[in-house]
Amino acid sequence: MENQRKTVIVTGGGRGIGREIAISFYKAGYNVVIGYAGNEDTANETKKLCMEDGLLGELVLVKGDVSEEDTANQLLERALSFNGRIDVVVNNAGITRDNLLARMTEKEFMDVLDTNLKGTFLLCQKVTRPMMKQRFGRIINISSVVGVHGNSGQVNYSASKAGIIGLTKSMAKELASRNITVNAVAPGMIETDMTKILDEKSKEAILASIPAKRMGSPKDIAHTVLFLADVNSSYITGQVLGVDGGMGM
Ligand code: NDP
Repeated sequence: MENQRKTVIVTGGGRGIGREIAISFYKAGYNVVIGYAGNEDTANETKKLCMEDGLLGELVLVKGDVSEEDTANQLLERALSFNGRIDVVVNNAGITRDNLLARMTEKEFMDVLDTNLKGTFLLCQKVTRPMMKQRFGRIINISSVVGVHGNSGQVNYSASKAGIIGLTKSMAKELASRNITVNAVAPGMIETDMTKILDEKSKEAILASIPAKRMGSPKDIAHTVLFLADVNSSYITGQVLGVDGGMGM
């Protein structure tokens, strides 16, 4: 059984959407490697929540900045240490540094590109070799509705999330013949720390633009990610799946 257990890496799994994704995989019987930037308390809480129903598989927390190559190496090394496999990778770590274009600093632009886009590229590049060797892989990159439609005050963030879509589609073409699928999930407005910082007026304006008239939950995204990770989702690749209550229509 242990040798057949699948292994997943989830970046940004300490909080929010990534936490829910990590919990869902663990409870589905995967070995889980959880990446986080530095918030120890929330990462440990994720670990506790994963294990609330008992020890179901291997689980390890890896601290590190996804924009650094060494972090990608460490995440992969830990994943392979369980049983030599890396089946699923979820590039979820992400940040915002919102500002209007006229006021945006080069640092605000580059920090977001480095974490969201370069971080995704680095880990994708590392994991494809073992995935090609085992002739199986599922890569799921978390984009955003604003990567498709743009958003005022977020030129850096929407550029990074649009970049993720281009990277996803190109990788999907390169890897489809190896039984590796690469898809993007584009969440709408999801209740996490990232959206907590919005003031009530902005939240109301966004809610008015969502046909479902409610914010989504991290569970909505985790459910979609697990669906794409399934062995039977093998004919879905290069897609951008909106999970946004109709916001992106
Ligand atoms: P949160 O801010 O709640 O959590 C972000 C997670 O990413 C944390 O675990 C954080 O680690 C980690 N992280 C941030 N920067 C780095 C870094 N440089 N290296 C490693 N890990 C890092 O975000 P959400 O859960 O809301 O968002 C998750 C993903 O979903 C992001 O990619 C976001 O862009 C995307 N998304 C979110 C939406 C939303 O409405 N919430 C909508 C559309 C897309 P630590 O805890 O240690 O700080």
